[in-house]
Parts: sequence; C-alpha cells; structure tokens
Amino acid sequence: MAKKNTVSLEGAVMTENGLSYKGVIMEPVVEKCEGCDRMVDFEGQNFCPTYAQPARKWAGGVCNFATHVRAEMDKGGKVKINPLKASKRAARGR
Ligand code: SF4
Repeated sequence: MAKKNTVSLEGAVMTENGLSYKGVIMEPVVEKCEGCDRMVDFEGQNFCPTYAQPARKWAGGVCNFATHVRAEMDKGGKVKINPLKASKRAARGR
C-alpha cells in the first residue's frame, strides 16, 4: 500500500509554543502515533495535520483518525486497541 502523504505543512512556522500552522499551534505526535500514515515530518519532528494535539487525542483512549490501529469496545465497554498490519511490521522489523 502506498503511503499517502499528500498533506504538507508548508507555510508552518516553528514558534516558542510549538509549530504554528494556519493559526493553530500544533504539538508533536506522541509515541502512540508511531506508525500512523497521517504523521508529517517537519524539521525532524513529526506532526499531525489531522489533529493539532495528538497527546490529547490519545488521552481519551484511541485516536479515531489513526491509520495504524483501530479502537474497539469490548463487552465491558473498555476500549481495546487493535494494531493493524502488526504482523507485517513485526516480520519486517525482526
Ligand atoms: S491521526 Fe491520530 S494517530 Fe495519526 S498522527 Fe494524528 S493524532 Fe496521531
């Protein structure tokens, strides 16, 4: 599957508070974003054009925009995170 990095952060400016893009301060992606196709690299750091504050996105369970995992509720109403393509990635990485 081709990586669809069609979004660019062109025009973004690094400021003291974070990366400013179209008037929004963007925070770097968090560890859980690792593997998500939406991440965009900007000057060596990854940002999410879909959600400016990835950490907050994940605080509530799972990012619903993530391309690499899918959240499911189990019977108890707890959020279960299912990695996508995990077996493929493991095979490649080891
Ligand atoms: S879409 Fe969600 S998982 Fe993907 S980079 Fe953005 S915040 Fe992270």
